[in-house]
Amino acid sequence: MSASHSPSALPPPVLRFAPSPTGLLHVGNARTALLNALLARRAGGTFLLRLDDTDLARSKAEYAEAIREDLLWLGIAPDLVARQSERIALYEAAAERLKDAGRLYPAYETEEELELKRRVLRARGLPPIYDRAALDLGASDRARLEAEGRGPHWRFRLEHRIVAWEDGVRGHQQVDTASLSDPVLVRADGSFLYTLPSVVDDLDLGVTQVVRGEDHVTNTAVQIEIITALGGQPPSFAHHNLLTLPSGEGLSKRLGHLSLRALREAGQEALAVAAAAVLVGTSHAVEPVESLDALAALIDLAHISRAPARFDPEEVAGLTARTLHLMPFAAAEARLAAEGIGGGAAFWLAVRGNLKTFADARAWWQLIAAPAAGLIAPEDAAFLRDAAERLPAEPWDGTTFGTWSKAVKAASGRAGKALFRPLRQALTGREDGPELAALLPLMGRARVIGRLCGGAA
Ligand code: GLU
Repeated sequence: MSASHSPSALPPPVLRFAPSPTGLLHVGNARTALLNALLARRAGGTFLLRLDDTDLARSKAEYAEAIREDLLWLGIAPDLVARQSERIALYEAAAERLKDAGRLYPAYETEEELELKRRVLRARGLPPIYDRAALDLGASDRARLEAEGRGPHWRFRLEHRIVAWEDGVRGHQQVDTASLSDPVLVRADGSFLYTLPSVVDDLDLGVTQVVRGEDHVTNTAVQIEIITALGGQPPSFAHHNLLTLPSGEGLSKRLGHLSLRALREAGQEALAVAAAAVLVGTSHAVEPVESLDALAALIDLAHISRAPARFDPEEVAGLTARTLHLMPFAAAEARLAAEGIGGGAAFWLAVRGNLKTFADARAWWQLIAAPAAGLIAPEDAAFLRDAAERLPAEPWDGTTFGTWSKAVKAASGRAGKALFRPLRQALTGREDGPELAALLPLMGRARVIGRLCGGAA
């Protein structure tokens, strides 16, 4: 094998996520986006965001903006953004080339006429494939139709051959394009349907690998034919299973199902949502990860199941908590600072195991740093005052609580719950929470004395 064929000599891959900005991204879209972004990242490649906004009536600038924000929140900001609405000239040039090559032909049937043809075929038990009647039209027929006021739409003439590819998820795939209608690429008003712009952009932007939902498997056969007709080299393809609601119902951007926005507003961690979106419906367990790089390392397209994957929002809540419990201080630091939470790594490591959402950290910080009255049962007041007197001098560290509570135990004769419960309640006002050994140095001696003695400290 020559050096140029060794895997290390392959050029870095280019992958893309290509949503239409017609709604908010849901977790199913996140699965596609993350697979592309993380495969690119893992291989030192490029991740493109391509906004499929040729449908001007349904595409909205605010959705395009929301998509970028949501990707940023997930931690997968694209290296480059392309908007199809700004690239129409490229699609027009490609359409002309296909016309010149005899692969794009004008057709004049109305939607009603097409529907009638389909109905007749179905009634005869035949698949409703377009009969290519338009290919038989001569110049005079076309002139007559156009004189009637009919403008042509344009169909791609399929080769009626077996198109095959090795799919990254599904293995060997083949589609006989004789089983398909020649697809309409250009509408009568000159606007483009999804198929041609997607192919032109993949070629023009040098996309090497297309990872998308399995709803596009048939498109792939058509697109490979178009790419070949344009003299291009098809990228590799992988079609992943789709996520569904727990009920099995498909996710809809239009209906706002499980939007990333809603999950974020509910306090779910981006990393937890990412782990769930990528790992559900694969042979890998859905479990928390420490970073997107760690998640990227777990991706194996060949281990994605062929069956649809049910996405359970309840599971994300559990995963959010477990993600926080693992989160290193370095990953939390900027967010803590943005919330005005101090205490550094000592605070974070003391409380992270008690968080359900990141916002809970604020309550623990207030408990430590803001004035608060301890919770003291009357029968414990004397015991707590005595305990306060036994507090050692500062500086305090992680061993202070152990030394102190041993002294309190010896002096009071209390042990177990009778010893620790009133201390915890007086110091935190709560029955449970982080280790008191970790909290004590964060609170400091003056505050601890105040709380043990029932003041707001
Ligand atoms: N806009 C298409 C979609 O959202 C893109 C499909 C593709 O990845 O080519 O389904």
